[in-house]
Amino acid sequence: MSCIKIVVISNCPYCQGVTIKFGKAGIGQRYRCKICKSISLDTYINKACHPSISKSIINHVKEGCGIRSIARLLNISANTVLTRIKNIADKIKKPIISIGKTYEVDELKTYIKNKGRDYWVIYALDKHTGQVVDLKVGKRTRANLQRVTDTLLLAKCKQIYTDGLAIYGQVIPAAIHTVKRYGTNRIERKNLSLRTHLKRLNRKTICYSKNLRMLEACLKIYFWYNRQPMQTSV
Ligand SMILES: [Zn+2]
Repeated sequence: MSCIKIVVISNCPYCQGVTIKFGKAGIGQRYRCKICKSISLDTYINKACHPSISKSIINHVKEGCGIRSIARLLNISANTVLTRIKNIADKIKKPIISIGKTYEVDELKTYIKNKGRDYWVIYALDKHTGQVVDLKVGKRTRANLQRVTDTLLLAKCKQIYTDGLAIYGQVIPAAIHTVKRYGTNRIERKNLSLRTHLKRLNRKTICYSKNLRMLEACLKIYFWYNRQPMQTSV
């Protein structure tokens, strides 16, 4: 296993705060951040523990790499990549929704576990800013669709554009529900970006999600994790 040697750690790798020496760890020096109290080392024996690895995993997920290709590119195990993606996604919070906005809601078909099991990514997008405000992965049932539309109704939305699926008529009040040609253009274009940028949503390939939680985790990272500059180590 290769060691990663950083000559000087003057700042915290997590918040860029000032660090102080904090004892020894194995063959190197340990540091603690004065602000966020996180521990960092100057020498990492296990590459997966390096602070820059999580950021690299996120950037690779957003650039359309699959789990195994990330593991190969970063030279860490696939299980580490899976665990790290789940942990990062668990900490991501949904964006706060502004009151009185117009939204588009749509569903994107995909598969989980095998190509005979259809699942849907149901999500809502702000028509003007393009920001995804809520998502749900599951079967195309009334309960799942309602979870997304209820979020918008709670935010006192002005108008909701959909593709005219019958269930929407039952869960959205007619006064704020619009079905019209080109009304969901923005979210349809977002579907195309999703299929291009996320490996597991590519069409006509052998790539698909094996696990619902991983699909949700990758989508949360893609939609809501702010892109960070890639750090180069070694
Ligand atoms: Zn810090």
